[in-house]
Amino acid sequence: MIARSLANAVPLNWMDELSQAYSHPLDLLRDLALDPAEVDFAPAATELFKFRVTRAYARRMRGGDPRDPLLLQVLPRTRELHAVEGFTADPVGDYSATREPGLLQKYAGRALLVVTGGCAIHCRYCFRREFPYQGAVGSTTLAAALDSIAGDQTLTEVILSGGDPLTLRDARLFELLRSLAALPHLRRIRIHTRVPLVLPSRVTEPLLTALKASRLPIVMVLHINHPQEIDEEVAAACAALSAANVSLLNQSVLLRGINDNLEFLVGLSERLFDLRILPYYMHLLDRVHGSSEFEVDERTARDLQAGMLARLPGYLVPRFVREIPGETSKTPFL
Ligand SMILES: *Cc1c(COP(=O)(O)O)cnc(C)c1O
Ligand code: SF4
Repeated sequence: MIARSLANAVPLNWMDELSQAYSHPLDLLRDLALDPAEVDFAPAATELFKFRVTRAYARRMRGGDPRDPLLLQVLPRTRELHAVEGFTADPVGDYSATREPGLLQKYAGRALLVVTGGCAIHCRYCFRREFPYQGAVGSTTLAAALDSIAGDQTLTEVILSGGDPLTLRDARLFELLRSLAALPHLRRIRIHTRVPLVLPSRVTEPLLTALKASRLPIVMVLHINHPQEIDEEVAAACAALSAANVSLLNQSVLLRGINDNLEFLVGLSERLFDLRILPYYMHLLDRVHGSSEFEVDERTARDLQAGMLARLPGYLVPRFVREIPGETSKTPFL
C-alpha cells in the first residue's frame, strides 16, 4: 500500500501526462458526472477537429455543470456542425500571408513561424482548426523558413506559434531557440502558447534554463480566457517563467457564454496581474467554420470594453481587437 501511494505521488513527466490527455468526450463527461444525453454534445464534430483535453485542465472544471466555462471551450456542440454564412476555413488570411511554407508575415518587423500542428488541448473556436499543417511543418520547411528569416534584415522578432510550440520536445525546441539566437538582426523571440495553463508540468527546469540563457529576450503570450482556468499549479508555472526573465502577456478570445461577463473579465485582469502577466489583446472571434456559437455581438463587446475601462487601471485593460485580413496590424475595435 505504501509503495503504491508513493508511486501515485510521483508526478508524471509532461510527455506522459500529454499522452494521457482525454481523447474522447465521453470519458471527460463521465469524470465530470455529466449524462451525455443531457448535454449539448455532437460527437460527429470530433471527426473534423479531434477532441483533446489534458487532465490538468479538466481538473479545474466543475463536476455536474454542463455550462462550465472550461468545458464549453473544448466540448463539441451541435452548432459546430452547422454551416453558417461568413464562417470560413481561413478567417484571418493566413494562406495569403504565407512567405514560405510555415512562415507567415502580415506585419512589419515580425514573422510567425508555425512550428508544429500539435496542441495539448483542442479549443473548438481555434482559428487554425482547419490550417493545412501537413504542408507547413517539418524539418525541410523549417530549414527553408529559417533561411528566409536569416536573409531578411527587416525582421526583429520571430513568433513561435502553431499548434503550440511548447509541445515540441526539448531537443527540437532548444535547437530552434539556438538557431534564432544566432541571427544577429533578431532582437526577441515571442512564444504563443496555452501550455503553461493546460499542461503546467511542461514548465520544467531544463525549459526554464534554456529560456533564461537565450541571448534574445523571450516574450510569452499566454491564452487565458477565464479566471477559473488559473489554479495553484498554473500560478507556480507563471512564477517560474517570470523568475526566468520571461515577459508574460495574455491574450483572450471573447467567447459567448464563457467570458462575456464584466465581473469575469475584471477578475481575470486582476488575477493575471497577481501572476505578473499583463493583459495584451482581447480578440473578437475569428469567424472560422464551426465557431458561430461563440460569437459575441458587437454591442455586448463594446459594453464590456467600456465596463473594463471604467473599472480598471489602463494597463489592466486588454486592447479589444479584430483581425482583418490585409490590414497592417490587428484592428482596434472601437
Ligand atoms: C497576430 C499576428 C502577429 C502578432 O501581431 P502583434 O500585434 O505583434 O501581436 C504577427 N504575425 C502574424 C502573422 C499574426 O497573425
Ligand atoms: S492553437 Fe491554441 S487556440 Fe488553437 S487549439 Fe491549439 S491551443 Fe487551442
